[in-house]
Amino acid sequence: MPIDATQPYDDGNIFARILRGELPSTTVYDDEHALAFHDITAQAPVHILVIPKGRYVSWDDFSARATTEEIAGFVRAVGRVARDLGLVAPGYRLLANVGSHGGQEVPHLHVHLFGGRSLGPMLAR
Ligand code: AMP
Repeated sequence: MPIDATQPYDDGNIFARILRGELPSTTVYDDEHALAFHDITAQAPVHILVIPKGRYVSWDDFSARATTEEIAGFVRAVGRVARDLGLVAPGYRLLANVGSHGGQEVPHLHVHLFGGRSLGPMLAR
């Protein structure tokens, strides 16, 4: 069920629970600002989620409230994960769903990182 991106942060959301170690994840990267793990329902040969460590509902919330250090750390982590996975030369796709029209279901900012094959058109028509 898509969320309302203007809702307050919910500490019970799935990714908050993963960050607290209450739920497992298949971690591929972890640092001060970001955690990256495999999406549980992969939609490409490589489908990773990168999330900030802070309590941010969406890209909107993060871009408005996060510190410059948090933003830099998160953006660098996304790029680092893609490089570490060898995705730069063949190419990859980033996606951040925001709110209802974006189809966002988990109310903690996450960037999808897709790769491993040619990904075709940007949106289904
Ligand atoms: P979105 O629609 O952008 O909010 O995407 C949420 C993503 O989270 C979906 O691709 C789900 O497959 C993924 N997901 C949900 N629960 C988990 C989980 N426990 N571990 C990894 N990925 C998850």
